[in-house]
Amino acid sequence: MTDNRLIDLHAHTTASDGSLSPRELVEAAKEAGLAALAVCDHDTTAGLAEAMATGEELGVEIVPSVEISALYEGGTMHILGYYSDIEDERFQEGLRDILDGRNNRNPRVIARLNELGIDITLDDVIAEAGGGVIGRPHMARALLKKGAVSTLQEAFDEYLASGGGKAFILKEKYPPEACVRMIVEAGGVPVLAHPKQLRRKTLKEIEAVVDELIQYGLAGVEVLHGECEPERIPEYEGIARERGLLVTGGSDFHGTSKPDILLGRGRHDYRIPYAYLDALKARHAEIAA
Ligand code: AMP
Ligand code: ZN
Ligand code: FE
Ligand code: FE
Repeated sequence: MTDNRLIDLHAHTTASDGSLSPRELVEAAKEAGLAALAVCDHDTTAGLAEAMATGEELGVEIVPSVEISALYEGGTMHILGYYSDIEDERFQEGLRDILDGRNNRNPRVIARLNELGIDITLDDVIAEAGGGVIGRPHMARALLKKGAVSTLQEAFDEYLASGGGKAFILKEKYPPEACVRMIVEAGGVPVLAHPKQLRRKTLKEIEAVVDELIQYGLAGVEVLHGECEPERIPEYEGIARERGLLVTGGSDFHGTSKPDILLGRGRHDYRIPYAYLDALKARHAEIAA
């Protein structure tokens, strides 16, 4: 019998910069007919308890996860950590440390925006985050509300984007090795998120990054990412398969922060098979053994 169940291994909640609460996200997954959903907030596991409880109630399998931002020049490196033990003290200590780096950055971005003549306060941004981890999408929303920009994308292009945003400030982060290792040490499965966002020019360069991460314990590559162009998918899949790495997929759903990204489907109407999760669980069992 073929398994036709569909899943999504990458979605955000209000615990970071998604617009749906953990409960609402799981309800949306149920509505979308997904059998399993990984809740992956930026640098926090705060949304997981509510997501797991709702998942149990509604019959949606919740995969506990986190998306850690690693220190990486010239692009973005995010490492997804699936099935890490969220009670692990060292793991939570690492996340707290990474969150400190994020929170040190935030007032500096505001100060920069003020220097540029924009009337915005940290409280405006905190209000957008509603108690969750503050990310640039919250700053973008606050800028939009203030009338400083006319779209969220303009807020990024003009002020917040790395490599050109007038108020971009790099946050202190852990190097890739530390990110991968903290996931492994908490019994989790580390997966390189959206390889395209590394912004390397050639596949060879992406392969070199992947090969380095493998030395630290990388177990997979997020191939079917919601924002990835269909032409890139076989290339990334090749990189993973050639190295015996897991192939995973997720929409990177953020709700209204990125309205063109649909849960379970992304921007290009992908379908993510349950088989990806079977393989991920098998790898987790090996790591735990
Ligand atoms: P932060 O965690 O504060 O670094 O913000 C990262 C989030 O901002 C990402 O997950 C994206 O949702 C969003 N983002 C980053 N760069 C851009 C960009 N150039 N255009 C639109 N959204 C972006
Ligand atoms: Zn995000
Ligand atoms: Fe990401
Ligand atoms: Fe994400």
